Amino acid sequence: MSLISISLQIAFREPGCPVCRIRQETERRYLFHLMYEGVNDGMTRMHLIRSLGLCPEHAWALQATEQEWWHDGLGIGIIYEDLARRVHNILSASLARSSWARLHRRTRWRRWLEERGRVGRWLARWLPARAPAQPLLSRLSPSGPCRACELVGESVETHLSWLVRQMADREFRERYAASDGLCLPHLRRALEIAEDEETVRCLMEVAATKLDDLVTNLKEYVRKHDWNNRAEPKYAWEQVSWLRAVAFFAGEAPEGREEEVYRLRCKALADYRARPERS
Ligand SMILES: [Zn+2]
Ligand SMILES: [Zn+2]
Repeated sequence: MSLISISLQIAFREPGCPVCRIRQETERRYLFHLMYEGVNDGMTRMHLIRSLGLCPEHAWALQATEQEWWHDGLGIGIIYEDLARRVHNILSASLARSSWARLHRRTRWRRWLEERGRVGRWLARWLPARAPAQPLLSRLSPSGPCRACELVGESVETHLSWLVRQMADREFRERYAASDGLCLPHLRRALEIAEDEETVRCLMEVAATKLDDLVTNLKEYVRKHDWNNRAEPKYAWEQVSWLRAVAFFAGEAPEGREEEVYRLRCKALADYRARPERS
């Protein structure tokens, strides 16, 4: 059995979308290894320079990783000192260029013409228009994607392709059907990849069964809010079905280990997973 198959089957047993689980695991592993042994690694630093750090989501996740494991900011400090110096150099070099003086003269000349009435305004239109910061903006923009996003994307594609291919195998299909199923974004991608009608049908059947459960649980959750139904038992999986519904449409929530909301989400996922089997 391949590693991909093993990680999928482990994820099937976890609450929530199995591919979202794998995405989170890939993120966690990359960010941990970046901090553990990548801070002074040439290739890692090249990726970070290319993308001017990580994307906002992963930059904060990296900071949280270092804080959680090392209770410190040394790695982040080293990486971002280098990046901050590079941006400073770009700004300094740009400030020192004589073209700013030319641009300034051109702007003054345009304003002078515009103040000279209709003919002046007409003449000003023929002066070459140029956003003054355009050349600088291209140097201040990333020249490549966030490495964490890139790796996560590759991992999701690999696991989804495998999942779709393995749907032909009855045992694998049953294990998938017993999981919480794919979230909508991952279901859409799986349907895109699927090459035969049988696989498409299997994916749709599992999703429809999960949604049927979810709609029933949501209805009960709402119904039991009514004062007249207050004496009815409130089951844990109904009480958290609204959170499960958000996860279905948006994918599983990103991790935020210290937050109360995150703890609530984890408990909700586990409670929903503990719902009884359909009879
Ligand atoms: Zn997902
Ligand atoms: Zn990213």
